[in-house]
Amino acid sequence: RIAYVNGAYVPLAEAAVNVEDRGYQFADGVYEVCLVVGGRFWDEEGHLDRLDRSLAALEIAPPVGRRALRLIASEVLRRNRLRDALVYIQITRGVAARNHAFPMRPVPPSLVVTAKRFDLEKSERLAAIGVSVVTAPDIRWGRADIKSVSLLPNVLAKQAAAKAGATEAWLVRDGKVTEGASSNAWIVTEAGEIVTHPATHEILSGITRRTVIDCAEALQLKVVERPFSAAEALRAQEAFLTSATNLVMPVVAIDGRKIGGGRPGPMARRLREAYIRHCAGR
Ligand code: PMP
Repeated sequence: RIAYVNGAYVPLAEAAVNVEDRGYQFADGVYEVCLVVGGRFWDEEGHLDRLDRSLAALEIAPPVGRRALRLIASEVLRRNRLRDALVYIQITRGVAARNHAFPMRPVPPSLVVTAKRFDLEKSERLAAIGVSVVTAPDIRWGRADIKSVSLLPNVLAKQAAAKAGATEAWLVRDGKVTEGASSNAWIVTEAGEIVTHPATHEILSGITRRTVIDCAEALQLKVVERPFSAAEALRAQEAFLTSATNLVMPVVAIDGRKIGGGRPGPMARRLREAYIRHCAGR
């Protein structure tokens, strides 16, 4: 496998950054994960817009323009002979002698792009049975909307899920489910309302989340952006999660208790199909 690291395409095993990279020392950087299917980037503008927002929030200047970044990502895919892939883009503030505050004179940001194969068929098979989640306390900082590489709370929550044999952790703050450790959380109420946490500073505003809202509204379905509790999720008709990696994925159990009879619901299926149709342009 080949990675792009600061201007060079190198074998992944040799791809490395400086030990004084601020991403390594302070998690002072941001990232994006984009899905590519059949060589086509899904929600590309959304992901690149969010990358710009994350960079701006941390006052990191974009190391390359959008066109160049697209070319680099395409070249990484080409060199890895990938048509269906997850592209990972990471930008950190760069290399500087260790000191918490930004370097006095700005250093060039570090840019890394890698890609790994994505299997849509496998994802479809998983969506046909659904996944389980466990709840975990949301112990993250107050700016979860910035897609920073500072992911320790997410790592710990995901590990708790893995330990419990679940796929995802739903994070709970003040009694409300904010989102998943690496996805957005949704329920469908008895009234048929599709509910997800509003895009505040407490969640990462998912690109898939946004597109799924648009798809739902195009289907004349009712989406309500409001917080919901774990108890409400347990009573819901359906639950599902969204992310670039999972598209729309039915959730069939929360903390070991079945949702919607333990089987994927019709709404999740419908939204998944709509999302795929929208992104694949068919
Ligand atoms: N929330 C968190 C915390 C995430 O890490 C992700 C995945 N990037 C998402 C939500 C979903 O975002 P997206 O739909 O843009 O992949």
